[in-house]
Amino acid sequence: MQESPLTQTRELVLIGGGHTHALVLHDLAQHPLPDLRVTLINPDPSAPYTGMLPGFIAGHYPREALEIDLVRLAARAGARLVQARAIGLDRSARQVEIEGQPPIRYDLAALDIGITSDLPQIPGYGEYAVSAKPLGAYARAWEDWVDAVQAGRASPEIAVIGGGVAGVELALAMAHRIRAHITIVEASTPLPHLGPRARARLLSHLAQAGVEWRVPAQVAEVTPKGVRLADGAEIEASLVLGAAGARPQGWLRGTGLDLSDGFVTVDPFLRSITDPTIFAVGDCAHMAHAPRAKAGVYAVRQAPFLLANLRAALGAGPMRAYHPQRDYLKLISLGERRALGEKWGMVLEGGWLWRIKDRIDARFMQQFRN
Ligand SMILES: Cc1cc2nc3c(=O)[nH]c(=O)nc-3n(C[C@H](O)[C@H](O)[C@H](O)COP(=O)(O)OP(=O)(O)OC[C@H]3O[C@@H](n4cnc5c(N)ncnc54)[C@H](O)[C@@H]3O)c2cc1C
Repeated sequence: MQESPLTQTRELVLIGGGHTHALVLHDLAQHPLPDLRVTLINPDPSAPYTGMLPGFIAGHYPREALEIDLVRLAARAGARLVQARAIGLDRSARQVEIEGQPPIRYDLAALDIGITSDLPQIPGYGEYAVSAKPLGAYARAWEDWVDAVQAGRASPEIAVIGGGVAGVELALAMAHRIRAHITIVEASTPLPHLGPRARARLLSHLAQAGVEWRVPAQVAEVTPKGVRLADGAEIEASLVLGAAGARPQGWLRGTGLDLSDGFVTVDPFLRSITDPTIFAVGDCAHMAHAPRAKAGVYAVRQAPFLLANLRAALGAGPMRAYHPQRDYLKLISLGERRALGEKWGMVLEGGWLWRIKDRIDARFMQQFRN
């Protein structure tokens, strides 16, 4: 028997279990939409909350503390979880192409797949370096490396590629966990997204922790012994970490969607400007109406807007335009249980700020556990 068009079940496919989609699922668990089948596609059964990553590396949190359990979340929302990687969109057939699995049909799809910090253009990177994202490989490499250093099997030398906030926060976290010689290699300017005061403070913390800079310096190759720079200089390292900026996932280029530097260009309703059946949020989207640096805070704030606009696209309620805030309170952990905060160029620092960050992070994670 055919379903009547009025009661036909529609297919919403959420591609990637990033922060926005996790929050959308959390809401759908409480307010399910009738006649809607939801599928979540994510390679792993959980998604890490990167805001707590430096705290995990520093040894303040166990690994489970920063994992959002997507299996449980999907089950509560009545959604199907497909544990796989999306590799393409066939927009004429309205199908998401999946690695090693049949495609999945959609009426509406949303992308929340984050960025990649892989640097495949650097020879040796794939063999001898580890990226800050995805977390799984870094977490394993870090624990193995700490064990190897403590057992005297590896030299305590680390090279970090990328001197933005992520590279700096992770360098401070690693320096807190273990006595090591850390070098940050940066191609242009250290901490480009911070104001001069916050930058100066962080540089002074790094100097106190014995972290060295090579700037401006280009990495020519990663070798079994460390990093070779374009000028021929060698930096010895038994752990090489890639934390160089936000690179878009390559397969988005094949989707035919309008991209801005590889990120999906969206309108204020978080819809692709090319195709109104495709939404994109978080780090993988470029908000053409209000460009912002990539940050989890925007992914989190977009969640109620994505939800409202998906509902609207299904015929329930009006669309809501998302206008991101111009600046936000950046809380940067300093390795030990202290944090530096920056907003509108003002800088504060202390153990109390770390406790505030810890509470914000704990509250964020708690909502998925209740
Ligand atoms: C060390 C570090 C510290 C940070 N600290 C902060 C902070 O304090 N505050 C802040 O605002 N931001 C911070 N950020 C930035 C923040 O982590 C990101 O902006 C945020 O995670 C973006 O969320 P998202 O929803 O775009 O996707 P992500 O959180 O990146 O999640 C993407 C998900 O999609 C999945 N996925 C990837 N590819 C595919 C695919 N092809 N198919 C299906 N699924 C896929 C991934 O497995 C993952 O589960 C930090 C980043 C780093 C590296």
